[in-house]
Amino acid sequence: MKNFRFRGVSLILALTLLCATAACGGETVDTPAPSDTQQAAALPFDTPASVPAPTPEPTPTPRADPEEMVRNYWSEEQLVQAWGPDQVVEHLFFHPVIAYPQWAFHDCPSSRSEKDGLDDWMVTVDEFNKILDSLYERGYILVNMADVWGEYTNENGEVRMRRNTLMLPEGKKPLVFSFDDVNYYPYMLEQGFTSKLVVGDDGDIWAECTDPYTRETFLTQDLDATTILDKFVREHPDFSLNGAKGCFSLTGYQGILGYRTQNDIDIAADDPARPAFDANRQAEIEAVKPVIARLKETGWTFGSHTWGHIRLSSAGMAWIQRDTLRWAEEVGSLVGPTNILFYPHGGRPDGDHDQGESYGEEFKWLQSQGFRIFASVGTSSYSQVKTTISAVICDRLHPDGTTLRSGRSLERYSQFYNAKEIIDLEVRPDLGVTW
Ligand SMILES: [Zn+2]
Repeated sequence: MKNFRFRGVSLILALTLLCATAACGGETVDTPAPSDTQQAAALPFDTPASVPAPTPEPTPTPRADPEEMVRNYWSEEQLVQAWGPDQVVEHLFFHPVIAYPQWAFHDCPSSRSEKDGLDDWMVTVDEFNKILDSLYERGYILVNMADVWGEYTNENGEVRMRRNTLMLPEGKKPLVFSFDDVNYYPYMLEQGFTSKLVVGDDGDIWAECTDPYTRETFLTQDLDATTILDKFVREHPDFSLNGAKGCFSLTGYQGILGYRTQNDIDIAADDPARPAFDANRQAEIEAVKPVIARLKETGWTFGSHTWGHIRLSSAGMAWIQRDTLRWAEEVGSLVGPTNILFYPHGGRPDGDHDQGESYGEEFKWLQSQGFRIFASVGTSSYSQVKTTISAVICDRLHPDGTTLRSGRSLERYSQFYNAKEIIDLEVRPDLGVTW
């Protein structure tokens, strides 16, 4: 059964690879790249009859999958350092990075307050690159968020969460990355961000991008947080444990990863726009599947950021239930089940009341839907395993304009980087710093 599903995925991968490439505006459709050929050989794979045979050009030398090297960089014998339950696993989260800062902060047609919002919550590509360099130099190593905590049955027969002991290479410090709102919301596409993730001819993840000044659309690995991190880890494989990258925190209301996969229930049944919407949705669902498959294969994981980016502290039970079920239907059905919930706006359920041992009905209901790791936003990588329910609550730190400019954050983030060396005050709006 498992094998059958795998065949299906690889078939869709092959078909959609061609469609995705053709749709990328000016990109030529090449013959299958060596890595695809190699992947095809490694997996049970039926060539669909409708796909023309590649022109018998010079036989390409099969390229080894560079991600394979990333996954296997550390051998079991090298993982000699036990990182126990009382030692902090740091957690940083990012929003999409700004590909064109001059456009985003100054030249784009958005309002001043929208531009200041980008300054508050985002970092630029250059800043993100500098942050990665600093984290790497300071000995951090990316670990899979799902490996940090695990469920077990205690001596009373109760299922609870616990912090796992991580086995790390000597001298390394564990770090979790999460990336919020990797949905490529339409409004952001006009603000100097990349527009979607795709699988390139070489089998790797690329970002589609439109230069806001020339309107030229192209594929890049240098302007999007996902592809920048992939590339960084390929160049520094010791920065990742078992190929771990980050966890995507996804909403659903504008689809995911740049694909408009949301359903049509908000469109009136007799709306003439509905058939076209549905046809496009189906195509987008097929197109995103190989992207998800490749991301999973290369160390990325998925969590919920609620379907509608709702404020869990004030939404109320009925809304939370509707929203959660809709996420499962529209996003979970594509990325698979997850036990991680990232609170939008950092707002905690039950009137912001799930800290310490306490929690209320909404938290309990969310837990009953399979969530075990509840991540908010805070001033440290705080985490607490609850003892009366199988759940852990945790906070994440947020490198962005607010913390890069803040004197108070300068010290808090000093273990990761020196904000003075990261922030690009040349291109950011003139909003001052407090350090
Ligand atoms: Zn968000």
